[in-house]
Amino acid sequence: MYNVMSPKAEEFINHEEVLESLAYAEANKNNRELIEKILEKAKERKGLSHREAAVLLDCGLEDKNQEIFALAQQIKKDFYGNRIVMFAPLYLSNYCINGCEYCPYHLKNKHIARKKLTQEEVVKEVMALQDMGHKRLALEAGEDPVHNPIEYILECIDTIYSIKHKNGAIRRVNVNIAATTVENYRKLKEAGIGTYILFQETYHKESYEKLHPTGPKHDYAYHTEAMDRAMDGGIDDVGLGVLFGLNNYRYDFTGILMHAEHLERYKGVGPHTISVPRLRRADDIDPDVFDNGISDEIFEKIVACIRIAVPYTGMIVSTRESKACREKVLHLGISQISGASRTSVGGYVEPEPEEENSAQFDVSDNRTLDEVVRWLMEMGYVPSFCTACYREGRTGDRFMSLLKSGQIVNCCHPNALMTLKEYLEDYASQGTKEIGDKLIEKELEVITNPKVKERVMEYLANIHSGQRDFRF
Ligand code: SF4
Ligand code: SF4
Repeated sequence: MYNVMSPKAEEFINHEEVLESLAYAEANKNNRELIEKILEKAKERKGLSHREAAVLLDCGLEDKNQEIFALAQQIKKDFYGNRIVMFAPLYLSNYCINGCEYCPYHLKNKHIARKKLTQEEVVKEVMALQDMGHKRLALEAGEDPVHNPIEYILECIDTIYSIKHKNGAIRRVNVNIAATTVENYRKLKEAGIGTYILFQETYHKESYEKLHPTGPKHDYAYHTEAMDRAMDGGIDDVGLGVLFGLNNYRYDFTGILMHAEHLERYKGVGPHTISVPRLRRADDIDPDVFDNGISDEIFEKIVACIRIAVPYTGMIVSTRESKACREKVLHLGISQISGASRTSVGGYVEPEPEEENSAQFDVSDNRTLDEVVRWLMEMGYVPSFCTACYREGRTGDRFMSLLKSGQIVNCCHPNALMTLKEYLEDYASQGTKEIGDKLIEKELEVITNPKVKERVMEYLANIHSGQRDFRF
């Protein structure tokens, strides 16, 4: 039985409820009256139920589809302005005891060299990331209690936060590691992590079990209920994601929204972010063997419908996607992107020769961070290296209430300008710096509160004269 308030995965992601929602969406895909009603509700910017969102995803009326895209763009603008938060993944270890069929780190893959960073190597990788200008990382590691126990992850987090190299600093470490216990989540919280990220891959239990034939990840319920345990351990910013291409996209779209509803209703805080990765080629993995691949058009529609359904949830797209595709989805709802990512262990210090490809997936966007920053600014976006909220204790429901009241923008915009200024002073090429300084000048005009504006101008001048780390 479907029960959003149940602690059991099979009840809050109830298979029959997903199927009924999909049948409802299919039956109503040309129902103009219903679609208009849903769009009217969506315009209130309070979100939609998974069933309503599924109808929009299936909508077959061209004019209404245009309205869906326009509304997604408007909501993106209202909630997130023109800021795009930047981050980079850091791969700590590719040892893994799971058998995920779509990931080259699966236990049986003997082609790739297994590597785990030592603390000295962590320092070197982080310095390389700091030298690019990154301030926010997402840690990645396979599941292996012998090679990557929680103590190893905690030690790496400590090391990362301790490195102060030139003007560099990693100010927020998000963590993407396997589902674990409440006790371990508590340890991660104490270590000062930002968001705990765990991709569901697919919400379809039968497919999930087939795709994860061996290892602890095979346990669908343990994996799906992980976010509840993370919240019980005190982590209140959690990041959801599915790997589009593994299973029917309509099913997983509905599943991820049901998961978001469950967290919001049962735990009182919805997901902090939703990631929308698509399956990519990698060693021992051929995406063509999975027949659920989705086109760019469907991908854009998914992004737009998630933006409308959960306006308060940040959305992330990685370098799995090409520049052209990222360009399209940015304005539809994406609020965070990675830049200059290396998806192999140790890849920032020593990029791998092609013949030794041990990356978790092939990167489609291979540009440097400077190129990505410049590209964003040329499109009118403000790249932001802001990490202020978690450092100011604005997490979980505190963060959500600021976001819902629209007040967060008073922090986001000034912080974006100041962290961009730091980037321009310390890391940008001359051309990027010129574009950026002009952009900051223009964006200062958007700040309506004269006191805030005055303080931002003062902080910008301080940054120019060498001081760092101002925030609202
Ligand atoms: Fe291991 Fe994660 Fe890859 Fe699965 S997806 S094989 S758990 S690293
Ligand atoms: Fe994110 Fe908070 Fe910074 Fe806004 S102020 S960009 S919500 S960390």
